Amino acid sequence: MSGRAQLMWDEAVTGYDFGPSHPMDPVRLDLTRRLVGAFGLDREVQVVAAKPAGESTLRLVHREDYIDAVKAASADPAGADGSYGLGTLDDPAFAGMHEVSALIAGQSVGAAEAVWRGDAEHAVNFAGGLHHAMPGGASGFCIYNDASLAIARLLELGAERVAYVDVDVHHGDGVQAAFWEDPRVLTISLHEHPRTLFPQTGWPQETGAGAGEGAAVNLALPAGTGDAGWVRAFHAVVPELLAEFRPQVLVTQHGADTHFEDPLAHLAVSLDAQRAVQVACHELAHAYAGGRWVALGGGGYAVVDVVPRSWTHLVGIAAGKPVAPETVIPESWRREVFARTRQLGPQRMTDGRWPVAYEEWEAGYDPADRVDQAVLATRRAVFPLRGLLP
Ligand SMILES: [Zn+2]
Repeated sequence: MSGRAQLMWDEAVTGYDFGPSHPMDPVRLDLTRRLVGAFGLDREVQVVAAKPAGESTLRLVHREDYIDAVKAASADPAGADGSYGLGTLDDPAFAGMHEVSALIAGQSVGAAEAVWRGDAEHAVNFAGGLHHAMPGGASGFCIYNDASLAIARLLELGAERVAYVDVDVHHGDGVQAAFWEDPRVLTISLHEHPRTLFPQTGWPQETGAGAGEGAAVNLALPAGTGDAGWVRAFHAVVPELLAEFRPQVLVTQHGADTHFEDPLAHLAVSLDAQRAVQVACHELAHAYAGGRWVALGGGGYAVVDVVPRSWTHLVGIAAGKPVAPETVIPESWRREVFARTRQLGPQRMTDGRWPVAYEEWEAGYDPADRVDQAVLATRRAVFPLRGLLP
């Protein structure tokens, strides 16, 4: 059973725009919002625009000198010289950058507050999931780390255990860094192996430090991993950890860049497997987090073919009105896609791979299989630290 869900949305988030040659094209957010509307899902949720994250909230995670640098770059983009990661190829400065980044962060913080207070059981901010931003610097298309800020706000409100599960193709390094020594936050990231992908971190041996030892979990999958391996790996690691940790809130990041069409990474996951993992996250929130679920977007650079469908599924699942994979996409949306991008949009809400078949870890593993080796490396590195069998 799902109670009322919130969809965090303020049209102005599409102003998060690094320019025409940058892969993170905000049309992906606009097309997602329109596809959500084309299926009428915006009538199944409460659509809420939260206020931007203010200075005191940003400071829960970010250093004051960095916030000042973002504000300066935002007011004078031409003056950004690469310090604090601002004005780089990945993170070019643009006018209004501070305001729109704070607005996106505010949506994730608002989602966390709504779920914590019980105003909503689930809340989705698909404009969020900017997981690479560091306490003291921009990184990987991310200015303010809305995921970390949502978690920090939950801790401020009194949460004692928050779990963060990140299935973006890239390592959730900024969130891991923010809570590296904090045992109240369990971060779990599944990603392409750091040997072959930015940000070159997320090795299984990264397990946290000090009181937070064992509260960072990294599953680094080989390039080329497809549906069966990806879903198997998720189930081989995440549910046991959540069952042991018993979070009060589950925060998930659903970067859609694991997809085989994604131009920036090398996993080979379909939309159907992404949907299967979204369904699993929803079920895990109910099983282990009292249903309290904050779901965020993230990466995803196949901006027409993949991102809108993936996050529309996410909204449907959170709304308790999941869109069936075989569903035909309304022609009205495809016309909007063409008008905005001169590309032809996809026709169905599936890549034709539903239901996703995979083998359960409990049935045994193959020590010669590279996905199983990755799972074993993670289990061996961190499960004993949590009192679990590797
Ligand atoms: Zn990513």
